[in-house]
Amino acid sequence: MAESLTLYAFNCGWFQCKPGYFVEGDEGDYLTGPVPSYLIDHPKGRALFDTGMGVRYRRDFADALPADKFGLQWFEGMDVATRLKAIDVAPDSIDWVINSHLHIDHCGGNAYLPNATVILQRRELDAAREGAAPGVYEAIDYDTGQPVKAIDGEHDLFGDGTVRIVPTHGHTPGHQSVIVKLAKGEVLLAGDCCYTERNLDVMVLPRATADVGEGMRTFERLAAQRAKGTRILFGHDGRQWATIRENIPFE
Ligand SMILES: [Zn+2]
Repeated sequence: MAESLTLYAFNCGWFQCKPGYFVEGDEGDYLTGPVPSYLIDHPKGRALFDTGMGVRYRRDFADALPADKFGLQWFEGMDVATRLKAIDVAPDSIDWVINSHLHIDHCGGNAYLPNATVILQRRELDAAREGAAPGVYEAIDYDTGQPVKAIDGEHDLFGDGTVRIVPTHGHTPGHQSVIVKLAKGEVLLAGDCCYTERNLDVMVLPRATADVGEGMRTFERLAAQRAKGTRILFGHDGRQWATIRENIPFE
């Protein structure tokens, strides 16, 4: 366990799409964005925010997605269990898994974390059960046997204000994000409530938004957080990810 709160970022795969998938009307070549997972190592326990994709999205380099094709993939060594072991953290030492939402690229590694309790917004769990569809919500990813703590709204994970789960609905009915209070300031792990920094700059929701009204209210809250100095780590932002150093404590 950490002596003081530490945050680590890992990339567990790749997301390829045209710019217009993120911001309607944007043109250009296909973009490649990360599928992030974050370890929050707190003196009272370890939490992961999002866990990447299931094994069915694994590809070999020889069989990689063509650069001009929409889709998701990961390569050997990118699964969250291997990412954790690379920094000497045992997957069975993770106490909490916080899934931003239950789409297949955010909870596909839950099965690797056998001793974790999974924290979800109750309405996300309901949405996943009602909206089961291949490539969107698949029970094989999230129905993995660990206890589930269903919450409604905000939750202060360790009771000291350093790791706050906050509802950020819109992309899905029960999307949630986490605000981590580090020594140098607050970091907001957005997940897919905001795919890229550009979405927030232009205040344009992607077409893949379950509830536009909720999504816009979430964007307004994100913009207010950013204005007061919170650093936001976006869901699938390749440009931002290029500035992030993996496997070392986040600063
Ligand atoms: Zn996603």
